[in-house]
Parts: sequence; structure tokens; C-alpha cells
Amino acid sequence: MNGHPTREEDFDLYALGALEGDEKAAIENHVATCSTCAEKLAEARGRLALLALAAPAVAPAPSVKARLMAQVRSEKQGAVRAPVVSPVPETTGGLLGHWWAAVLAPVGFALALASFVLWTQNRRLDQQLAALQADMQREQQQLQTAREVADLITARGTTIVPLAPQPGMPKGSAHVMYNAKMGMLMYEGQLEPNPANKSYQLWIVPTQGNPISAGVFNAARTETDHFFMKCPPGIDPKAFAVTLEPSGGRPQPTGPMVLVGALS
Ligand SMILES: [Zn+2]
Repeated sequence: MNGHPTREEDFDLYALGALEGDEKAAIENHVATCSTCAEKLAEARGRLALLALAAPAVAPAPSVKARLMAQVRSEKQGAVRAPVVSPVPETTGGLLGHWWAAVLAPVGFALALASFVLWTQNRRLDQQLAALQADMQREQQQLQTAREVADLITARGTTIVPLAPQPGMPKGSAHVMYNAKMGMLMYEGQLEPNPANKSYQLWIVPTQGNPISAGVFNAARTETDHFFMKCPPGIDPKAFAVTLEPSGGRPQPTGPMVLVGALS
């Protein structure tokens, strides 16, 4: 095996002595030359030793062990195959020949395995929970933006600044909604698609100082572009402008002005 084992469980299964044949040999050959994986295997051994210590001292029935092993195997193979029905072959001498036998045999191999299965499932649940939390956070973010946009549209003092197309430039119609008190602005517009190696960029042109980038976008023929942003504090805009810039935008405008509108 040249690559690292792809599944974290492999280290635990190896440490438990649950891997056999090629799988077992592959891990052994790999950890002999890979210090990262050797460390992971050492961690897995430590983890299993702890699990074993936590399990009460009950001798397992051989059939329980076989069933658990089958479950671990089917989990490991992505639960696609049906669980193995035949008992796991084992010789008495083989069991005692493994390093873990000294730790596990007195406290119950089956319970250690059960702990391991639960621990694996818990870890999967944790991952699913983290993914759900990330989704929820994204949705809350979108909801928050929608609320802010609604506030901006309905607020007193929000002005609509039409942006006028410039001669010889891509055609389109757009406006910026701006509220000085809220420090918010929203661009809404339809522009001819930009060339592939260029982007459109919206600028806040303040009464003093350099233009401030308010968003980089690529226009599609059939879509209206919207974006919403907070105006940096202490900025007093006198106009909004869209320029054509190298793809991805620039810190300061370098390209031709496509649209411009002044705050009255
Ligand atoms: Zn490795």
C-alpha cells in the first residue's frame, strides 16, 4: 500500500485484531514506513485500551462476538453487503497471541467491540450534526440578509439612485438603493454579459477620498443582479458607479465606466 488507509476505522479494526489477510498486511506494511499512520495506530490502541478498561468484566458468549464482528465488518464495507453469517474463525492460541488479549480477555471482548461500534456511530452522528448546524447557520444568514433588504426597502430615508449607461459601453439598467442612516445599500440591475476575462465592479464614490469597492459581479443575459452591502462607517457617498475591470475586480477602478449615478 502506498497511500494512507482511507478509513479511520481501519486503525481501530487493526488494533482490535479484526483485520485479516491482505487488509491486515496492507496496514502493517504501511505503518512500517509512515510515521503519521504509525501514530494513528498508536492512538487507536490507546483508545481501545481505555474502552476495554471502561467495560465491566463479563465473559462474552462466542456467538455474541461473532455477531459483533459481522456488524463491524458490514459497517466497514459501507453496509452494502449483508452481514457475515458464518462465525469468525479463531484459534485459542491465536487469540492469546495478540497483544490486546491481555487487556481485553479479562474485561470482555464483546463489550469492548460494542463500545467501539457505538463510538463509531456516535462519531458519524457528530459529523451529521455538524453538517446540519452549518446548514442552519447559512439559512439564518440568508434570512438575516432578507430582513435587512426588507428593512432597507421599506425604511424612510431610503433613496433610489438610478445608474445611467455610458456611451459606447455595455447597455443595461440598474439602480442603487441607499440609506445613509442605516449605512446600507443594494444594487439591482440588468447589464449585458461581461466579456469572459472581465468582471463588473460597483463603486461607492465618496465626497472625499478614493472610491470604495462595493461588489464584483458577472452579469448573465437573463438574470437581474442583486447584492446588498453595508456602507463602511464614516463614508459619505456622492455617487455610485459600475466599471469593467479585469476578472475578479481591482482594489481601485482601472477600467471604463459603464454606469454612473449621483446622489441628489
Ligand atoms: Zn500513512
